[in-house]
Amino acid sequence: MKTLRIRKSTVLSAVLSLSSPFLLSLPAKAASFNFGDTAVKTINYLSENLEGRSVGTPKEAETVDYLVKQLKGFDYEPTLQPFDYTFRNQNLTSYNIVAQRLGTSGKQILLGAHYDNAPSNSTLDRSKLEGTNDNASGVGVLLELAERLEAKTTHTIKFIFFGAEEIGLVGSEYYANSLSPKEIANTLLMVNLDSLIFGDKMYFNAGRGATDNPSWFRYRDLALTIAAENGIAAESNPGFNSAYPKGTGCCSDLESFDLIMPVLAAEATNWDIGEKDGYTQTTNPNVPGGFTWHDPATDNRKFINTVFPGLIEERARNYTLVFDQFIDEVNKQSVPEPMSVIGFSTVLGTAGLLLKRRQGSH
Ligand SMILES: [Zn+2]
Repeated sequence: MKTLRIRKSTVLSAVLSLSSPFLLSLPAKAASFNFGDTAVKTINYLSENLEGRSVGTPKEAETVDYLVKQLKGFDYEPTLQPFDYTFRNQNLTSYNIVAQRLGTSGKQILLGAHYDNAPSNSTLDRSKLEGTNDNASGVGVLLELAERLEAKTTHTIKFIFFGAEEIGLVGSEYYANSLSPKEIANTLLMVNLDSLIFGDKMYFNAGRGATDNPSWFRYRDLALTIAAENGIAAESNPGFNSAYPKGTGCCSDLESFDLIMPVLAAEATNWDIGEKDGYTQTTNPNVPGGFTWHDPATDNRKFINTVFPGLIEERARNYTLVFDQFIDEVNKQSVPEPMSVIGFSTVLGTAGLLLKRRQGSH
């Protein structure tokens, strides 16, 4: 078990304030806070104030502004990566938001979560979709991980809030295509956080590339080990459906990366039931069809709190705790030999690999 981490700046100002009455007038920062606190606060804010944040809406733009402001509050200098695309005959621009802490090793870790909601269509009005699970949860955990990360880090840590995931992984694919071969070779892994709350179980999966590069499972294994050490039950896709190989995840931004580098994907669902494809989330009889994906009637705080009281807080805490320790652990490890990554991406080429992703996304 690990004690709560205290940010260095907090310790310093606490020490200074003891020795200098002048500094007591500075705004006090909490000495520590519980795992999941910022994540839950963010989940609530996005659900309540930024519902219907799908591509091309004012709420999408407000969400970008909100996340930039939060990151600045955590001493980051976030940058926006704009990308243009066509959706239903409209020319639109969305943004990936990128915040980083620079490391010393020359290597980097990417952590991502999409902030957009599924858009309305002719049969379903999603202008009030809270998207509490998909994907305020991933955004909340990612933001708290950014808040908790100390300024001093071995590897550069990049937090990326992806736009336009729900219409075909557009933001993450744009980001992945913007990486140079050298940057890909220097990336240890990509972590994807999508839909972390609603489902019978917590999962950690690798990406499709791991089936041909078994060493790429090591980050999945590390996350499972950290969860177990903290008494947190977590599993990996058992592979009952041959279209979704054992130990691999799917159907989210990880697919923009998972053939060119190791990925670690977190999600809550239940891979044992339904079509065994990860889309059926629960056996709970009070959940119509066993899933809540993109449904304004069920992917919201009220419904989740009714069928699974306390689950928002529990999952937000557990995923934040595991990934906070995970970043610490990877920062401590010696850098693995990147030859397999270079060889793989050189032989097959980045663009060709990205075209092979599946249709449909969470
Ligand atoms: Zn999603």
